Amino acid sequence: MRDKYDVLIVGAGVGGLYTALNLDANINALVVCKRQLKLCNSSLAQGGVAAVLDTVNDSYELHVKDTLIAGGYLNNVEAVETLVEEGPGDVRKIIEMGANFDRVNGELNKTLEGGHCRRRIVHHKDSTGEEMMRTLIAAVKSHKNIEIVEDTALCFLDETSGGYYATLLGADGFKTVGVSFVVLATGGIGRVYQYTTNSAIATGDGIAIAADLGASIKNLHFIQFHPTAFAAAKGRERFLISEAVRGEGAVLLNNEHKRFMDRYDERLELAPRDVVSRSIILESRRTGSESFYLDITHRESNFIKDRFPMIYERCLHEGVDITKSPIPIFPCHHYLMGGIDVDLNSRTRINRLYAVGECSHTGVHGKNRLASNSLLEALVFGRRSADDINKSSPTAGSVTGKPIIHQTDGAPMPSGMRTTIRRMLQKAYFVIPDIDSALKYSSEIEDIKNRLYRNKFKVNTDYLEARSLARVASIIIGEVVNQ
Ligand SMILES: Cc1cc2nc3c(=O)[nH]c(=O)nc-3n(C[C@H](O)[C@H](O)[C@H](O)COP(=O)(O)OP(=O)(O)OC[C@H]3O[C@@H](n4cnc5c(N)ncnc54)[C@H](O)[C@@H]3O)c2cc1C
Repeated sequence: MRDKYDVLIVGAGVGGLYTALNLDANINALVVCKRQLKLCNSSLAQGGVAAVLDTVNDSYELHVKDTLIAGGYLNNVEAVETLVEEGPGDVRKIIEMGANFDRVNGELNKTLEGGHCRRRIVHHKDSTGEEMMRTLIAAVKSHKNIEIVEDTALCFLDETSGGYYATLLGADGFKTVGVSFVVLATGGIGRVYQYTTNSAIATGDGIAIAADLGASIKNLHFIQFHPTAFAAAKGRERFLISEAVRGEGAVLLNNEHKRFMDRYDERLELAPRDVVSRSIILESRRTGSESFYLDITHRESNFIKDRFPMIYERCLHEGVDITKSPIPIFPCHHYLMGGIDVDLNSRTRINRLYAVGECSHTGVHGKNRLASNSLLEALVFGRRSADDINKSSPTAGSVTGKPIIHQTDGAPMPSGMRTTIRRMLQKAYFVIPDIDSALKYSSEIEDIKNRLYRNKFKVNTDYLEARSLARVASIIIGEVVNQ
């Protein structure tokens, strides 16, 4: 690792890697990721990427309309139009790079997911994210101007003349690098909940660091709870049963193994995610049971195994043969629509600081993300951030001033803080906000946050993540209380 770079990209999911690939070849970029390259939400994406690739049976207007309906019309319409109109170009580009999306007779095989009125989701079986990551990693490795360093976390970011000093914690300890521009692509916040579909890296670090710098953080309580996470798995990370399973005809059953969605929404199982999650919680209150199932057994066994090989294997591993038995499911935290507020070029309100992907708030998703629009957002607005930086001709040489030396030694952080934060948020806001609990916890979460920021604890990734979780949880609880 050098002392200076033109651009620092924090995060190596689809957002970070696609941004790096779109930088001009004469710009040198450092991409860091907290753990291994493949450990991120991008790798977990199952369903696919939504894009209008066929303007005979589909149209931009319809994709915009579906996105706005799902988002409760709280979307930024200009951002939605940009996403929908430019997205197909980026999807074609990643196909040209080698992404192997499923085809029938040579034509892309497009699937349907909740909230979409047309089959417009391209996918690689049920592991689309893994395939996109494979493609992007291979491409990035062939670009000489991009250096990727794994197991390296951004801990502090300080503005200086001509850019930033970034304090990174890697295998060899702390290192400060000077950079002309910073792109935050740190992903989601799932680990602030007790149960989430998100990977272990999703602790909201970029959001907390941007907030500390004075960036505007918008709508962090716009959280998507996925209706169908596998309910019987052990551990904090819940395995997702993709929306595409409902797209292919699976039905939801209550504890009496009866369909119930007609009680709540005329779109039944294909209603948007927030509607289905809410319906499950209301049905759970009605029946007094948290037992719910997703049933696709009426489809042909070979079709299920071929269309959903990963889900089939994972469920089988957990003791459920989905070709023969309904799958136990329950909602859990899944996706963040809010984040670091950015404009159409992914600029935050802080000079030279950009945010892309799940940590950003472009406004495309409104109150609720339409399925398969987030990988598309990471592509479109990642490329746009790179285009904007390319125009500014960043030069690491212009970064001057003395780096701040942060105190990194201190007492170990007391154990149990992360658990307390998760417990509070789970109670205050899970699918349906609980205002009384949010009010009760609002000062407690402030205390935890202040302890983490003010006491001089030893800085390691555990501390860094706890600090981020506290910052994020305090913003969410504050928004719930004030809405
Ligand atoms: C189970 C699951 C299924 C999904 N299915 C779909 C789908 O079918 N279609 C769709 O469109 N979307 C889907 N999504 C959502 C989508 O995958 C994500 O929104 C998207 O991939 C986010 O990409 P990203 O680049 O912003 O973040 P990520 O891919 O999560 O990458 C974040 C990166 O930031 C790094 N990082 C974090 N903090 C730090 C730090 N302090 N220092 C250094 N590095 C850091 C991480 O190491 C990682 O490299 C799914 C998500 C999940 C969890």
